[in-house]
Amino acid sequence: SPPAHTLTIQQAVDRAYTRYKAVSDGANASYIPYLAKADTKLYGIAVVTTNGKIFKAGDADYLFPVESIAKVFTLAHVLKAQGTDVIQKKIGVNATGLPFNSALAVELNNDKLTGSPPPGNPLVNAGAIATASLVEGHSPEAKWESVLSTASAFAGRQLALNKDVYTSEMADNQHNLAIAILLQSYNYLYADPTETIDLYTRECSYNVSAQDLAVMGATLASGGTNPVTHKKVTDATTSARVLAVMATAGLYNTSGEWLYNVGLPAKSGVGGGIVAVVPGKMAIAVYSSALDTAGNSVRGQLAIQSVAHDLKVSIFQIN
Ligand code: GLN
Repeated sequence: SPPAHTLTIQQAVDRAYTRYKAVSDGANASYIPYLAKADTKLYGIAVVTTNGKIFKAGDADYLFPVESIAKVFTLAHVLKAQGTDVIQKKIGVNATGLPFNSALAVELNNDKLTGSPPPGNPLVNAGAIATASLVEGHSPEAKWESVLSTASAFAGRQLALNKDVYTSEMADNQHNLAIAILLQSYNYLYADPTETIDLYTRECSYNVSAQDLAVMGATLASGGTNPVTHKKVTDATTSARVLAVMATAGLYNTSGEWLYNVGLPAKSGVGGGIVAVVPGKMAIAVYSSALDTAGNSVRGQLAIQSVAHDLKVSIFQIN
């Protein structure tokens, strides 16, 4: 194969696809029955540039539940509506260093040990639940419609709820409800806990493809204008703040290792999706359902790292 510096985007995508096609490490999320039965063989990569070009390999059009990656777009929604200070004061923007669903992180922050507000940051469950509780709307249905419509604008097409995953997750959601009530006890939940968990679980349950994630990420990469539809979805300030939180907390407790090795803001979900953003240039997204112990797609991380290295797009690297 040609030396890495001469690789085109399509060559980098194809190379990453081939390199990790045989990897079978990791395991599906087991705590959500719907996700436990995903086909671990499915594997797709998509890159979308800020000038709207699309490059893909494998199962890049396969639809799967967005899960935690939705947190990025709900954050963008609330941040744009309510401003940067609201997120910093009511949610927090520091990494927790703890697993994504940690209730301990809520306790540690509240204990004034860390100086951060109890929800932690908008990309872990507690912070995303608090963020969902800030969504404005005259009814639960209106709030859900507004969250889904923002996500759809990022994707450039109408996204839809996967009712099976929503039902599967709602049937076994005690831990997230407990986090919501814990936040409420500290006055850091801004709506009814049951309604908030319903909205939060819905947002985790819309389907996306790797290509959708790459378009959504490329919208952030281009300062808030969707490079495929050319519609303005959000503004450059909102995009920059969202990317900053992705850099510090997008891969949960392994966010530091990710930033060290890859040098890109990113977000993963337990559905097996992961998207990384190269500001001003592109987004790289992968679907592969088997996860590491932190909850991040194993092949997703490998493939994005490969594409990023081949294209030399770390935000810290002067080429
Ligand atoms: N819906 C999942 C949960 O709340 C999302 C978690 C994730 O993707 N990390 O547990």
